[in-house]
Amino acid sequence: MSVLLEVRNLKKHYPVRKGFFGRTGAVVKAVDGVSLSIETGETLAIVGESGCGKSTMGRSILRLIEPTDGEILFEQEDIRKLNPEQMRRFRTKMQIVFQDPYASLDPRWTIQKILEEPFRLYEKLSAPELKERVEQLMQVVGLSPYHADRFPHEFSGGQRQRIGIARALALKPQFVVCDEPVSALDVSIRAQVLNLMEDLQEQYSLTYMFISHDLSVVKFISDRVGVMYLGRLVELAPTDELFAEPLHPYTKALISALPLPDPEAKRERIILSGDVPNPQNPPSGCAFHSRCPSARPECKSVTPEWKEVSPGRGVACLLY
Ligand code: SF4
Repeated sequence: MSVLLEVRNLKKHYPVRKGFFGRTGAVVKAVDGVSLSIETGETLAIVGESGCGKSTMGRSILRLIEPTDGEILFEQEDIRKLNPEQMRRFRTKMQIVFQDPYASLDPRWTIQKILEEPFRLYEKLSAPELKERVEQLMQVVGLSPYHADRFPHEFSGGQRQRIGIARALALKPQFVVCDEPVSALDVSIRAQVLNLMEDLQEQYSLTYMFISHDLSVVKFISDRVGVMYLGRLVELAPTDELFAEPLHPYTKALISALPLPDPEAKRERIILSGDVPNPQNPPSGCAFHSRCPSARPECKSVTPEWKEVSPGRGVACLLY
């Protein structure tokens, strides 16, 4: 497989304004030097607790928010160098599915109008052609075209997410960032939407970045998993290897909290002490040291470098 997307040293820093004159003080490093690549047709999951920077990273890669620094190479072209018009045309190749389909669909628009919009922006189609394309899209995601004149509130949560997926696929993108796409759905509906996403991936040769805090979903859908903590990637591994033998103490703690399929089986639960530190004032050295059960004295002062431990597996921890 070939590399579709490569991210090098991606950063998104937010200045924190304070005082009457809005002077900038501290900087929140929401994404702080992430490097990774995604191969054509694979699903790379990005996991981590709320506030770890995973959604900011996904939006930065799509340039929905402008990164502070770093390179984003899509088929070896650095898309940060594209001007607004070039970027507008390029957007057809990269799309996003949002967590909350209700918030991302205009409640005043019918589904016909919502799904027509990408074609109106990028293709000049006649009214009958628009109707036909919307009908096809609705069928692809398992919705009846008969309901195209309904409004978002007339659909269930799972159906609304299908509409969100249809909108993302309208222009036949190569790469889709799926930002917590099933977190807002009932457990009973999640599997249906995940199965649909897998079918569509195969049908349209899609490459996914799947952002989630739910490891059981990630285990089901991803080929590889990247684990983020306070804006940095701390571990990256093929999914099977990561779940069988996590290396980073943070990954170990996340996986230890997963229920086991066999109710008789036992696994020691690793309880992390404290909350995620304030990103305005992250701990020195390894940012995880204040919660790490394996921390050593040097972890307070030395920032762990990224280390490749085996082909396709890397970790940032002083234990390796
Ligand atoms: Fe824990 Fe130290 Fe490794 Fe950080 S570098 S994860 S504090 S052992």
